[in-house]
Amino acid sequence: MLPKIIPNLRLNETNEFQDDLAQPILIGEHKGDKKNSLSHLKTGFGITVIGCGLSGMITALSFAARGINSTIIERQNIESPSFFNDIRTTALTDSSKVFFEKLGIWEKIASISGPINDIYVADNKAPEMVHFASNELQVGQVMGYLVENKNFKKLLLTEVLTNKHITIIDNSSYDVKENNNNKCILTLNGSVHECDLLVVCDGSNSQTRQKYFSCETNKPYTQYALTFIVQHEKPHEGSAVEHFMPTGPFAILPLKDQNFSSVVWTIKSDMKDAVLNLPKDEFLHMVQQNFGLFLGDITIKSEIASFPLRAYSTNKYYNKRIVLVADSAHVIHPLAGQGLNQGIKDIESLASNILEFGANTHSLETYQNMRKNDNNAMLEITDTLNTLFSNNSRILHTVRQFGFKAAEKVSPFKKLLIKYAMGRRK
Ligand SMILES: Cc1cc2nc3c(=O)[nH]c(=O)nc-3n(C[C@H](O)[C@H](O)[C@H](O)COP(=O)(O)OP(=O)(O)OC[C@H]3O[C@@H](n4cnc5c(N)ncnc54)[C@H](O)[C@@H]3O)c2cc1C
Repeated sequence: MLPKIIPNLRLNETNEFQDDLAQPILIGEHKGDKKNSLSHLKTGFGITVIGCGLSGMITALSFAARGINSTIIERQNIESPSFFNDIRTTALTDSSKVFFEKLGIWEKIASISGPINDIYVADNKAPEMVHFASNELQVGQVMGYLVENKNFKKLLLTEVLTNKHITIIDNSSYDVKENNNNKCILTLNGSVHECDLLVVCDGSNSQTRQKYFSCETNKPYTQYALTFIVQHEKPHEGSAVEHFMPTGPFAILPLKDQNFSSVVWTIKSDMKDAVLNLPKDEFLHMVQQNFGLFLGDITIKSEIASFPLRAYSTNKYYNKRIVLVADSAHVIHPLAGQGLNQGIKDIESLASNILEFGANTHSLETYQNMRKNDNNAMLEITDTLNTLFSNNSRILHTVRQFGFKAAEKVSPFKKLLIKYAMGRRK
């Protein structure tokens, strides 16, 4: 299949910001004078984004909202059904909602997602539970929003394809040939392609990350996440449940349709093949046992996808004119549903620094300083929770039950947990 270039029809050859385009919407924390701050963008400013997954598309849209042009390079054919083939769901935090509001696309995302009104956390079916309820928040706020990745990708792709600041080149393979302090030179399908900044959003197995960056943390978990969609007899009313089991968490996440939920079931790696090869009725029986009967009988309504789990982070987020964003820089355990939400914070920080300072070392250093500690902290939290919960230790069970009581009864502690889970840091 030949690569296709789906251009921004009004993009000039140097990929310059053009005066005749509609005025850019300025968002974020930009404090300077709009004209002066944008002037550096008019001197030939080429941003290439690698990867047209969730983070690549959100990155290009975030630049576009600031009037910055970019070109996305994607390995897959974006018209092929397999491009959207992701059975996972994403729980978006309140902080991500605010980000999408600023991009002007939240209403569309809200129309394909369901609110999470309540979160119940249980320790291996023990009596003490922690209940996080939306009615403990400000009026109109909820604990989060759940969106199916395939629908999310379709929506973002439509936005990207109709955005005059974004060009997509799909079916393509690239290789970085030179990376210096001024530009990055690639071969793209055999031809030379130059850019001022290469933004790497090609996910957790990024080839450029492996070539140009070293890891700070690389911890494979001996766990897999199995994920699928179930239908249940009773409406979920926006309730999410997370059972911490000795093999790992079993999460039930409410979809937009009241009678459907997404399940993320973490199991030990050595159980994976046996569990996936179970006859359908036995698999369903095991799922129903973990799920419980609070929503009645369940049926499995999708394929079952499996993901090996690990924690990963790089020592640096940029190297000359290459910068890492989202999963290319950090991967965490999905038990708290924070991976992409952290990536969205990266994207907002990178785009606002580039708007303010240009595509230079100062911007990239500031971006790294703003994001690395927060991402590392989330990696530590999810790693500690997984270590603390995914075991059979009786002592740890007692400690956990004590912690559950404290979380439930000590209101300021609970509020702090909620604030952090909603993506707020101040
Ligand atoms: C089970 C599970 C549940 C999760 N739940 C949540 C949740 O509830 N909330 C949350 O915030 N996060 C969640 N996450 C994390 C989230 O799914 C990831 O952070 C997110 O999918 C990363 O998106 P990405 O675009 O960075 O990477 P990817 O989705 O991997 O996309 C990378 C893109 O780059 C392309 N690409 C790869 N290599 C190349 C190349 N050489 N050239 C060109 N293109 C290339 C790929 O084709 C793809 O389109 C979960 C993760 C798992 C495993």
